[in-house]
Amino acid sequence: MKMKKILSLAIAVIFFSCSSSQKEKADLIIHNAVIYTADSTFSIAECFAIKDGRIIAVGSSDSIFSEFDGEKFNAQGKALFPGFIDAHCHFYNYGKGLYQADLVGTNSFNEVIERVTDFAKTKKGEWITGRGWDQNDWETKEFPDKTKLDSLFPNTPVFLKRVDGHAALVNSEALRRAGITNETNVDGGKIEHYKSGLSIKGEMSSISNVTGVLVDNAVDLVANKIPTSSRPEAIAALMLAQKYCFEVGITTVDDAGLEKQTVDLIDELQSKGELKMRVYAMLTDNKENLDYYLSHGTYKTDRLNVCSFKFYADGALGSRGACLLHPYEDKPDQQGFLLSKPEYFIENAQKMYSNGFQMNTHCIGDSADRFLLDLYGHVLKGKNDKRWRIEHAQVIHSNDFKKFQDYSIIPSVQSTHATSDMYWAKDRLGPERVKGAYAYKDLLNAFGMVALGTDFPVENINPLYTFYSSVARKDLKGYPDGGFQMENALTREETLLGMTRWAAYSNFEENEKGSIEIGKLADFVILEKDIMKINIDEVPNVKVTHTFVNGELVYPKK
Ligand SMILES: [Zn+2]
Repeated sequence: MKMKKILSLAIAVIFFSCSSSQKEKADLIIHNAVIYTADSTFSIAECFAIKDGRIIAVGSSDSIFSEFDGEKFNAQGKALFPGFIDAHCHFYNYGKGLYQADLVGTNSFNEVIERVTDFAKTKKGEWITGRGWDQNDWETKEFPDKTKLDSLFPNTPVFLKRVDGHAALVNSEALRRAGITNETNVDGGKIEHYKSGLSIKGEMSSISNVTGVLVDNAVDLVANKIPTSSRPEAIAALMLAQKYCFEVGITTVDDAGLEKQTVDLIDELQSKGELKMRVYAMLTDNKENLDYYLSHGTYKTDRLNVCSFKFYADGALGSRGACLLHPYEDKPDQQGFLLSKPEYFIENAQKMYSNGFQMNTHCIGDSADRFLLDLYGHVLKGKNDKRWRIEHAQVIHSNDFKKFQDYSIIPSVQSTHATSDMYWAKDRLGPERVKGAYAYKDLLNAFGMVALGTDFPVENINPLYTFYSSVARKDLKGYPDGGFQMENALTREETLLGMTRWAAYSNFEENEKGSIEIGKLADFVILEKDIMKINIDEVPNVKVTHTFVNGELVYPKK
């Protein structure tokens, strides 16, 4: 008996000494990096170890190497950040847009026509589709019309979305297919008419008064006639979008408006290991999604999180669809409009609340923002952890900032909108109202966090443009000197948190991503230069050298 006890003790001693000298196995050890952990003290580390896609240790190289063995990755002293989260974008639509005529950056309507004509030569489907024009970038600054498209494409339907996605130019064939006539009206939308009657003198037809520009809900009348993407087209769109996002360091996208069919496809491609991008899916507020998800509940995997709905309160400022408390400064007969009746939002807010879904609503104008903030407040009562979001929160009346705090409502904003709109925002809003526009610091002060995104393809996908716009409040040419409404600039630390930990919080995912800490998913990005230190004007040109998702190198491809 005694002998046996001594023996087992000896075995225990041997075992104990072996295990203490043997190092723990890690899948990968990242070392020689300046690691901005984005943890609660904003600490900087040098090395971390990864196992099974998660971070298992963070610290100095000495301490990690003494404890862990495994494949090593030398970051060459470069700056390393948690993977960037785009808190509001249109990942799938961006991918689809890569297969349409690219009209971003056109300097005149003639240039639009040139690009559309080129695209038409190689197009595959029956329709000519394009995206990205912005009349504010042209000399005339007026909406274009259908005349030129009709002469070039009399029998082919053409659909060209404005950069903000809230307006489109279509030709007569597209109008015919949608059944739009001079008499058509649409709730929550606008069909532009020629001011003085007929477009072409003497020619009278059922659509001769219609210019071809459709705003907000009127866009859908035509968009719904375009055949949906085939499965191979949808897969190609997602895979190409992923490729470009990894190149700029994005590891999670919050897709602001998806159909169930696309969510299912994303889930399938992720489970096969083909789509590695993590997706926070906001569901479009259509009947099919509401019926299905409100009865089946939320859905979550390691790479997909479906627990929110996306609603649209109003349109965009650029196309004067934003719903304002007072008329537009530059069009006193217009004030914008809500895209649906108030009862629609009231009814759905109750449904979201009672079914445990997060409500995320696109609000641009101060009236739309006020209506939704008050509605959220009515449903949520006081402080809470439901994390309902206002998307864009673009023009806020000074009395309304406090509501973000009172009802724990997250402002989800896109810094590049400020520097894209700053040229004409004051024209639309006037000198007083514009002070409450793009007020990211005021929103941060109100709630304590902001979730940052790009809204791509409305803006460029590059998160470093967000970083630069947040901090410098200037465009890529360095305009204006000293920055736009600098009282609302964010610091570099605040910006980084908005792109990482705070964005994760807005997705209920702050315990699994958004910082380099033990237990978190190993999503991270290495940059060629340290954006926390270099001259801010250099930031937009900084390149991503490596992107990792789940501890796996996804860019550049091995
Ligand atoms: Zn959007």
